[in-house]
Amino acid sequence: MEILISEEAIRARVVELGRAIEDEYRDRQLTIVAVLTGSLVFLADLMRQIRIPHRVGLYLASSYAGAVTEPGPELRIDRRFQPDVAGRDVLLLDDILDTGRTLGTLATGLREQGAASVRVAVLLRKLGRQVVPIEPDYVGFEIPDAFVVGYGLDFDDDYRHLPYIAVLDGRGQ
Ligand code: 5GP
Ligand code: MG
Repeated sequence: MEILISEEAIRARVVELGRAIEDEYRDRQLTIVAVLTGSLVFLADLMRQIRIPHRVGLYLASSYAGAVTEPGPELRIDRRFQPDVAGRDVLLLDDILDTGRTLGTLATGLREQGAASVRVAVLLRKLGRQVVPIEPDYVGFEIPDAFVVGYGLDFDDDYRHLPYIAVLDGRGQ
């Protein structure tokens, strides 16, 4: 596997994102709502770089079933761990913006539930793949159209533990 973004580069960028988010949300009612499972590592690192009080809620979403590198037709979302967002300033967090279906659907839902504001942060933005028009407010890195794993991102539930982002080759090696 080819390393695309090193552990050191991720660490430095997460600190920068944390500082920018801190500045924007000072004196506001911040709730981060993260999309599991892919954003687990990003969430854990980023929330410790946001040194202002904030709440955390979770969605469990999946569009990739099994050993595939293309999303299936169905987007499944489990909202059981989402906190009450009415009146809160929500930062919706995901590992990667690909087609935009996941974040587009969730951002619309959060606004309908009365969030005071909804902004979007992603570690990665894959270029040339977006079909749902959603503009992320915070982007860690823009990457080319390749299937990546590591730092929370999986292939068939493997590779999430890697501390860097790598490109998976055609055979899942
Ligand atoms: P979207 O709804 O934007 O098409 O897809 C977002 C979700 O697809 C992400 O949360 C992520 O779980 C998954 N995804 C998209 N591209 C990749 C990729 O290159 N690698 C992995 N592991 N997951 C991806
Ligand atoms: Mg995901």
